[in-house]
Amino acid sequence: MEPLASTVAGRRIVLGVCGGIACYKTVFIARALTQAGAEVQVVLTQGAQEFLRPLVFEGITGIPPLTSLWSSQGSARHLRIAEEADLVLVAPATADFLARAAQGRADDLLSAVLLSTRAPVLLAPAMNTRMWEHPQAQQNVKHVRDTLGYVILGPDSGPLGVGEGEGLGRMTEPEVLTEHVARHLGERPLWKGKHVVITAGPTREPLDPVRYLGNRSSGKMGFALARDAWVRGAEVTLVTGPTPLLDPVGVSVLRVESAAEMLESLTPHVVGADLLIFSAAVGDYRAASISPEKRKRTLEGSWTPELEVNPDIALATLSLGSSALRLGFALETSEMITEARRKMELKGFDWVMANQPVPGRSGFESDTNEGILLSRKNPDEPISVPAASKHHVAAQLLDAVEREWASHS
Ligand code: C5P
Repeated sequence: MEPLASTVAGRRIVLGVCGGIACYKTVFIARALTQAGAEVQVVLTQGAQEFLRPLVFEGITGIPPLTSLWSSQGSARHLRIAEEADLVLVAPATADFLARAAQGRADDLLSAVLLSTRAPVLLAPAMNTRMWEHPQAQQNVKHVRDTLGYVILGPDSGPLGVGEGEGLGRMTEPEVLTEHVARHLGERPLWKGKHVVITAGPTREPLDPVRYLGNRSSGKMGFALARDAWVRGAEVTLVTGPTPLLDPVGVSVLRVESAAEMLESLTPHVVGADLLIFSAAVGDYRAASISPEKRKRTLEGSWTPELEVNPDIALATLSLGSSALRLGFALETSEMITEARRKMELKGFDWVMANQPVPGRSGFESDTNEGILLSRKNPDEPISVPAASKHHVAAQLLDAVEREWASHS
């Protein structure tokens, strides 16, 4: 929940709900946003009230939903909530609602809110495939997107309401929609249009078809950086070694195994990058030759696989002619600062985050991190990064980058 709170806490969100079966999932959107500290004013269409009683949302948001333009609560409040909203999300947005929005109708509460607000409007359509593909529905979508500037999220493909089988028309999942809300509320001008490229996770160097050399990196730090950079408005490419973490919403994720694959996947993205972050724990060595068959265990005798050195990915990108700012990591068990400074020089980093592996607190696998951020520009002013969630640490690191961009603009 914490990453969501960083941009939605204290913000006013109008959550419009239309009468489609997907509206049962909107309850989870209301809950996530409320738990993250947003003030969520739900507006239910007549159709939505056929599916869900207002009390469901009141119990979750603590705010009575608005249900009619013609009740005493509705007529005056719709103008106020529309004006005060930081963002309007309509989920699900039915075919009928899209048509109403496209026409600029104001004869029901939710349409009137849309017409009265100047906040960003996000619509998550949900309907059966035939409706979605109908030329009239498509024309409505095009109009609200291209002319009115509303953001259309989805629909996704997958199982539809019972009897409709599978297809395009499913409402985008609540956790994806809330991330888009976070981005629209968290966007910062300096990050818009910037391309951020990040390496993350461990690498696996195969020894034979079943065995590999690896390390304990979880990828959490790199994924948190990717998520935070996307929420700030950047375009993000994340090249990651094996990790069970889910793709961060909106981020282009390239999954690789070995260091050589990581370098190969990363290379085409380096030149166009504005910021390169090397948070992957790249294995230093790989097998000099990979056995095509599983090596059999023998009762006596040891096995000493011959290893050769892997490419240093950060170092290799230096010769690619990129003008990107560069942030690296240095995980050290001794002489942390000296080593970090050496790596900053050697690998051309503008910043290096020096940290130590402390089980349960920083380094691999843990959800938190702490360390010292050194910068090339102010080598004598290390910034202490106290123990906090990796999301919080990511925000601090990106703040340092943002300050640098701000000093040039
Ligand atoms: O492994 P080492 O401590 O030298 O890593 C320091 C930095 O260099 C990290 O930012 C890491 O992502 C990067 N690195 C790399 N390619 C390697 C080894 C490290 O990009 N082969």
